[in-house]
Amino acid sequence: MKPFEFHCPTKIICGKESLHKLPDALEEHSVKKPLLVTDGNLVKLGIAKHVTDPLEEANIPYVTYDKVPPDSSLDVVNEVAKLYRDNECDGWIALGGGSVIDTTKGAAASISVGGKDFATLQGAEILKNQLDPFIAIPTTAGTGSEVTLVAVIADTQAQAKLSYTSYRLVPHVAILDPALTSSLPPRLTATTGIDALTHAIEAYTSIQKNPISDALALYAIKIINQNLAKACAEPGDLDARTNLAIGSLIAGASFSNAMVGVVHALGHSLGGLCHIPHGHAMMLLLPHCIRYNISHGYHAGLYGELLSSLCPDKDLTGLTASDKDHLFETELFAINEFYHNTYGVAITLSELGVTKEDLPAVAKQARYDGAALYNEQEITEEVAMSILEAAF
Ligand code: NAD
Repeated sequence: MKPFEFHCPTKIICGKESLHKLPDALEEHSVKKPLLVTDGNLVKLGIAKHVTDPLEEANIPYVTYDKVPPDSSLDVVNEVAKLYRDNECDGWIALGGGSVIDTTKGAAASISVGGKDFATLQGAEILKNQLDPFIAIPTTAGTGSEVTLVAVIADTQAQAKLSYTSYRLVPHVAILDPALTSSLPPRLTATTGIDALTHAIEAYTSIQKNPISDALALYAIKIINQNLAKACAEPGDLDARTNLAIGSLIAGASFSNAMVGVVHALGHSLGGLCHIPHGHAMMLLLPHCIRYNISHGYHAGLYGELLSSLCPDKDLTGLTASDKDHLFETELFAINEFYHNTYGVAITLSELGVTKEDLPAVAKQARYDGAALYNEQEITEEVAMSILEAAF
C-alpha cells in the first residue's frame, strides 16, 4: 500500500433543528461578530432566516453579505474580504451552495494573509496561517465544500475556474440541517446530487486513493443513489434530504483526500468558458468520461467494484471484472436517462446551448486543470475532444 495522509478536522453537526446549535458553535470559537455570507436567492426563499433567527435570539451581532452569484468571481471574493475587514468581524458563516462556501473560503484566505488580493494566492498549500473560525452551512447536497480543502473561484477575465487547495481552507464546523435543502427543485437536486456521486466515483478511481477515501466513497455512492430519486420526487422528505446531505459531505471528505479526475477537469472548463453549472456539467460528462476510461483500459476493475454500492440489489454472480466495469457504465447512462425523462434535465451539451465551435477551447483549457493530474491517463486535447464530442 502506498503511504498516505488523511485530513478531515471539521466538526459536523447534523440533523433536524441543528441550526439552533449555531450560537454555541460561535461561542466555542470565541466569535463575537461573524460575517454571514449568502446569496440573494436564499434570502428571498426565507432560508437565510433559519440562520439569522438563532443569531438574533442569542443577541449575536452580525454583518451580512448576500450577493454571491453562482460560480462567483475573484472580485466578489475581494469585496467580501473588504466588508469583513471594514466591520472588524472575527468569524465566518457561509450559508449556501458551493459558490457561497467557496467565496467565503477565498475571502477568509485573503484575510488570513493580511488582506492580499485573492488572485495572488493560487496554488497548493501557500496559506501559512489559520483562517478565522469558519462555519459552513450547505444548502445544496453536492459539492461537499463544507469539509473540503478546495475553493473554486471564477477568473471572469480569463474565463476560467481556478482551484485553490490548502488544508487551511477546510472549514472548522459544518452544520447540516435538512430543512435548508428541501426548497431545492428536482433538477437542481438531481444535478447537485450527481456532482456528489461524481466526487465519490472519481475519488475511488484517483491515483491518489487510499483505504479511508475508498471506504467513504463506497458508502457515499450507496447513500446518494438510494436517496436522490426520493428527494427529487418528494422534496420535503427530510430523511432523504438528510441522507443526501450526509452522502455529499462524505463524498467531499473522500475526494478532498484523494482528489478528482477527468470529469472535473472538463467540467471546470465548461463552467469557465460556457457557463454550464458545475453539477450539470458533472452529470452529463460522467458516463462519457467513464466510457472513455473503460474502453481504453484505464482504472480497469475499479468501476466494477463500485457496482454493489450503486445497485446493492443487482445479482452480479458470474460476472467478470470487465463485465462489471461495463455494467457500471450502463447504470450511469440509465441514471441520466431517468432524470432526463422524469424531470427534463438536459443530458447533452448541445441541449445546453454549447456549440461545436466551443469545444476546442474547452478541451485546451481542461488539459491544464489541476484535476487532470489525478486521472490514470494524461488528458490531452485529443482525449478531451473525443469525450466532449461524445457528450455533445
Ligand atoms: P451554487 O452554489 O452555484 O448554487 C446554484 C443555485 O442554487 C444558486 O442560484 C443558489 O441560489 C441556488 N440554491 C442554493 N441552495 C438552494 C436551496 N436550498 N433552495 C433553492 N435554491 C438554492 O451550486 P453548487 O452546485 O452548490 O456549487 C457549485 C460551485 O461549487 C461551483 O463553482 C463549483 O465549481 C464549486 N465546487 C466546489 C467544490 C469544493 O470542494 N470547494 C466541490 C465541487 C464544486
